[in-house]
Amino acid sequence: MVTAYTHEPFTDFTKEENKRAFQEALAHVNTELGQEYPLVINGEKIISSVKVQSINPAKKAEIIGTVSMADKQLAEQAMQAALTAFETWKTTDAAYRANILFRSAAIIRRRKHEFSSWLVKEAGKPWREADADTAEAIDFLEYYARQMLELKNGAPVNSRSGEQNVFNYIPLGVGIVISPFNFPLAIMAGTVVAALVTGNTVLLKPAETAPVVAAKFVEVMEEAGLPAGVLNYIPGRGAEIGDYLVEHPKTRFVSFTGSRAVGCRIYERAAKVQEGQIWLKRIIAEMGGKDTVLVDRDTNLDLAASSIVYSAFGFSGQKCSAGSRAVIHQDVYDVVLEKVVELTETLFVGSPERADTYMGPVIDEKAYKKIMDYIEIGKEEGRLMTGGSGNDENGYFIQPTIFADVKENDRLMQEEIFGPVVAICKATDFDHMMAIANNTDYGLTGALISNNRDYIDRARKEFHVGNLYINRGCTGAIVGYQPFGGFNMSGTDSKAGSPDYLLLHMQGQTTSEAF
Ligand code: GLU
Repeated sequence: MVTAYTHEPFTDFTKEENKRAFQEALAHVNTELGQEYPLVINGEKIISSVKVQSINPAKKAEIIGTVSMADKQLAEQAMQAALTAFETWKTTDAAYRANILFRSAAIIRRRKHEFSSWLVKEAGKPWREADADTAEAIDFLEYYARQMLELKNGAPVNSRSGEQNVFNYIPLGVGIVISPFNFPLAIMAGTVVAALVTGNTVLLKPAETAPVVAAKFVEVMEEAGLPAGVLNYIPGRGAEIGDYLVEHPKTRFVSFTGSRAVGCRIYERAAKVQEGQIWLKRIIAEMGGKDTVLVDRDTNLDLAASSIVYSAFGFSGQKCSAGSRAVIHQDVYDVVLEKVVELTETLFVGSPERADTYMGPVIDEKAYKKIMDYIEIGKEEGRLMTGGSGNDENGYFIQPTIFADVKENDRLMQEEIFGPVVAICKATDFDHMMAIANNTDYGLTGALISNNRDYIDRARKEFHVGNLYINRGCTGAIVGYQPFGGFNMSGTDSKAGSPDYLLLHMQGQTTSEAF
């Protein structure tokens, strides 16, 4: 019997002892920088000839680690290892698999600040965001382990006299997990272990900009007793091994989190049945978002302002759930705008190693340039209220940036920027607000700040997003509490952290015996 699931609490950094413990973990991680991370194929550590350096986005000169990259041949070797491992892993007892997750959660919990420190160093996450990422990874382990225990005997079905019917779930096969840089521990771990606990074997291709924390996680899984070949760690370039594995006839499913462009490419390529392929591949895709915070006139204006600011600028807006646009009722537009600017100007931007930093850098040069280009577009489309500048001398820092008076169909209101830029738009009334809310290709998260019960009820029905939040910001879904995933071009609405999620990694089998 396992205890009931509750989510991992966040660390209270106002407590001196927690602050000190985190600083010690950071100091420890600083002594471990620059090491070499091999591929892991069939439990074997392989150093390849092509390597990538993971760098600290806040301090470009600092190398977090040097990571071996897989080419096609090594990817094929990993595929063969995963295929062989599947033959035994698929028949293991679900409780045995779940226990490996429970043990991994315990190991990460013991080393919580250390893992968060790797996130500070490798992804540029401020303490609070890093701590939430590690907590979410623990949550996925704890939650999916329990979910598997619920599902292991299938679902009840009827039997007539003289027959015995059984309906249960069996695994799919080898899955390719392609994980993102923005939750390099939580989403990486969540997508990997959902596949593993259901009896599949995995080839993990982590984000190129955050492969070290993934390597650390793979070590934990091994320490927790995961057999060789079940999880293979193969960082590599999308063009080199991503396409190859997505198109591979033995790939049974792909679990992807990342951009819309890459998600659509995977979906299309995976749809083509290759020679020797005897199934239709399954795709689990979590893509972009253009998420809106709606502010009604009848509301708490301070709550409205803080919801806009924290949804827009948490982890420098590098979340697909980020509230990158706000639509405000004309009657309160000027007041809310002023509060938003005022609050934004209190946010400290700087080294994520400092306890008081609210926003660190963006992930790399490519992201920096893209965001700065959007800031230029914003200057044409709207009124720059604050921010608008960046500095990439030592790290990729961009000031939290607000554009007001942006029109509903402008690029800033339609395109995902994935950076600390928020577009603010004025609406005439609630109907207008709702129309703008639904005018994007996406449908991931959204928030309504309002005290009007009719409008709240209407939003529940009309606001077409996978995660709707009322009277709070639109980021920060908790595993097992707010299942996360979106509609339309936001992905396949595969709800991470939901009671349905594991089923995406399995197929139902009916056995009927007559006697
Ligand atoms: N689950 C996260 C949240 O609710 C966002 C995940 C993502 O950005 O990919 O904020």
